[in-house]
Amino acid sequence: MIHSADDIVRGSTVHADICIVGGGPAGIVLALELAKTGRSILLLESGGEAPTERARALNMGEIAEGSLHSPPDTYRQRVLGGGTSIWGGRCVPFDPIDFEARRWIDHSGWPIGYDEVERHYAAANAWCEAGEYEYDARLAVPNGMRALLRGFSPLHFDTNGIERFSCPTDFGSRYKDRLRSTPNLRVLLPATATRLRAARDGSRIEALDVCNGRDTTFSAVADQFVLAMGGMETPRLLLTSDDVHAGGIGNANDLVGRFYMCHVAGTIGSLRVNGAADTVWHGYDLAADGTYCRRRIALRPATQASMGLSNAVFRLHHPRIADPAHGTGPLSAIFLAQRFISYEYAKRVVSDVPLSAGTWLRHGLNAALDSPSTARFLLHWVKARILADRKFPSIIVRPRTNLFSLDFHAEQAPNPDSRIGLGSALDRFGNRQLRVDWRYCRQDVETVAKSFDLLGRELADQAIGQLTLAAGERDIETVVRRDGAYGGHHIGTARMGATARSGVVDRHGKVFGLNNLHIAGSAVFPTSSQANPTLTIVAMAVRLAEHLGTRVTGVPSIQESVH
Ligand SMILES: Cc1cc2nc3c(=O)[nH]c(=O)nc-3n(C[C@H](O)[C@H](O)[C@H](O)COP(=O)(O)OP(=O)(O)OC[C@H]3O[C@@H](n4cnc5c(N)ncnc54)[C@H](O)[C@@H]3O)c2cc1C
Repeated sequence: MIHSADDIVRGSTVHADICIVGGGPAGIVLALELAKTGRSILLLESGGEAPTERARALNMGEIAEGSLHSPPDTYRQRVLGGGTSIWGGRCVPFDPIDFEARRWIDHSGWPIGYDEVERHYAAANAWCEAGEYEYDARLAVPNGMRALLRGFSPLHFDTNGIERFSCPTDFGSRYKDRLRSTPNLRVLLPATATRLRAARDGSRIEALDVCNGRDTTFSAVADQFVLAMGGMETPRLLLTSDDVHAGGIGNANDLVGRFYMCHVAGTIGSLRVNGAADTVWHGYDLAADGTYCRRRIALRPATQASMGLSNAVFRLHHPRIADPAHGTGPLSAIFLAQRFISYEYAKRVVSDVPLSAGTWLRHGLNAALDSPSTARFLLHWVKARILADRKFPSIIVRPRTNLFSLDFHAEQAPNPDSRIGLGSALDRFGNRQLRVDWRYCRQDVETVAKSFDLLGRELADQAIGQLTLAAGERDIETVVRRDGAYGGHHIGTARMGATARSGVVDRHGKVFGLNNLHIAGSAVFPTSSQANPTLTIVAMAVRLAEHLGTRVTGVPSIQESVH
């Protein structure tokens, strides 16, 4: 059932066995999986079925260093479906090494092993509509996928690992009918959790304060509460709820909001590939089930260990769009259309190239002179992207020369000084907005610098091509600062630990010291991997549902009472 929270009477109490806060992929999957147990589930989502300005304003906050991190009301979406209403759909599992305590990365190591998450990846793949759980290029596609760089067999990198793409599935619209038709599940929209009310002895959550779209306050009472509000709002609510627990719930050891990670990611360098155009394939192959699949260049675990690096991958990418020197019509057409692209996606189009009148003119000339390929590209985009149910995942343009750039997507090492805290301005409910202080460290810069170097050497040694950096990129820290925190990934702010001294939540996602509060989503990841987070968020939500499903007792009905 999906109900309007605006119909709830002021001061009333909504009861359920399990109350989940946040209707992104974590909250939706958790709610639908838990509903199978017959228990009464309440899902509270701050947004509605479509985005509104009023909901977006609740995501606003301060940034310590604006050039490094996007404003908090960009990327994040307050709407049923959360970030998946605009996500790219790239699905990649974590690697076994991500779960290990690595002596060269401080604060690394999960209290659970890879196996405990891996066994839920097949289900996560299904939820994400990313086809079967097969991430090996030799097996994912009938007869194997095409080679990325023919003849390249690197020692330090694996090119057989792939990413698979979701439709991309917007969990809000895709699963709305199931949410609606599940009798023991009630979704309330728009319903914003404003404070967790702990029992006087601090051992459990007694109730949750909730505000609807008319700013009317009511309470939610449940046996178990789960916060699935994303990696920024979850610590904010914990820190805000400080009436019984001074400094915030779960924050006895000052860990809530710390270790904030995104990914260290961007576009770097130029790779000129030797030989004919068909020696390179940087596009997609189709799995038998219709999923788009693409190879990546992944730093091998043994090399990470021997060189003391974090996990990282590279992808072959077209030359930088903003620089008209690529002479490629479709890329210039994208540049010219940048004002029609949302902030989240346009950010990577406009880069450090000075935007003079001459730049615009040269892009115009590229598009005009290369008009047949520009027209072919546009036609393909309309057919395969705009009109298709399973959308072509990204811009793949064959450069006119064999010249590419590299996308890098690297793990950000856990750093206690990188944090989400509370700012000074208040939201419309009187709660302090977020303050984001994202910080990278030397390990992050060295991982990009050394793995780029290593890849360049292997490409040259095997006569595949020449990898070079532009003059402004030679100091890799400049590149890390230029591209900044990767926008849509918010990780580590309520980390999982073996004990309360090392984590906010235990191996099951339960907040240490409270017996009925769990956290879902990437806030609990102690490390960030090379992988985009959503597939693992969903796998962990399935795992949490399995755990909670076996331990909650209560009356399987949703009741409402007026005080
Ligand atoms: C442009 C973009 C591209 C992306 N591409 C990819 C990709 O290709 N691959 C990938 O793996 N990931 C990608 N992501 C990231 C992905 O969207 C997130 O990892 C995912 O949405 C996180 O899921 P979640 O349920 O934990 O949190 P969210 O999706 O953020 O959902 C949290 C929900 O909680 C609600 N909420 C917040 N506060 C409250 C409150 N106080 N009360 C009630 N409800 C509340 C919010 O409204 C929201 O709906 C992308 C993100 C963006 C923005």
